[in-house]
Amino acid sequence: MEYHFDCTICGKCCYGQVPLTIKDALTFADRFPLAITWTPVGADNKYFEHTTKLGSLVNLSKRKEIGLRITPTAYIPPSLPCPELAEDNRCNIQDKKPSRCRTMPFSPYREESVQAELLIPREGWECEISEEAPVVYRDKKIVDRQDFKLEYEELLQQTDMLRRYADWLLASAPELMRELNRTSKKKGGGQVIVSFLSLIPHLPDVDISDFAAKQLPIVEEFIKKTAGASVLKKHHKHYKEYAADLAKTVKQHV
Ligand code: SF4
Ligand code: SF4
Repeated sequence: MEYHFDCTICGKCCYGQVPLTIKDALTFADRFPLAITWTPVGADNKYFEHTTKLGSLVNLSKRKEIGLRITPTAYIPPSLPCPELAEDNRCNIQDKKPSRCRTMPFSPYREESVQAELLIPREGWECEISEEAPVVYRDKKIVDRQDFKLEYEELLQQTDMLRRYADWLLASAPELMRELNRTSKKKGGGQVIVSFLSLIPHLPDVDISDFAAKQLPIVEEFIKKTAGASVLKKHHKHYKEYAADLAKTVKQHV
């Protein structure tokens, strides 16, 4: 079976949050407001096994084990565009954009054999999927799989480090475990948002004050962009608390 797909540059998929590799998150620390999203994936979920391969496995209780997707993320509300989306819907950093954007519409967060549904445009997206468009997926295999392979390998390489980070944070912040438990019970799932600063001490050769100084201006921009809109309240609160921690970090290291 063959699937066709082409991008008409409508820009619609450049709204909302973007999962990043750690490398991309650090590279774009001056461009995206970052967070770590923790997504519980139940044992009955079809992506459970793949999630535990790239993420972690956690016992919420004696009888409940969940998979955890721990993802460095450009944390942007669904209604706001990526700061790199230009007025003509092109990407300002097209030649060096994050792996996630290069691999689109495919995603290494699921097996290569189950990518077909990602080629169905979401509501409002203007992707071309007629036979006029090139064949991009054939017999459950991606035709040009280089970007998919690179992103998958990067995710795999960072897994051990993210597991150590998760074990440490879960042991030092019991509230996080309670929140994951609550989120895992929600119909339709959900995610827990954790400050990106919690990850920095676990990354070798990252200067925390340099990182905080790069993040602060873009987070302040998003505080302004989300001010006053009740639907963006959760994001606004996160940005404000995060900005205060970033400012403290910069000050401590001056
Ligand atoms: S970096 Fe570029 S391609 Fe990626 S979401 Fe932003 S505008 Fe879109
Ligand atoms: S939604 Fe589809 S057509 Fe629009 S920019 Fe994204 S990939 Fe291209």
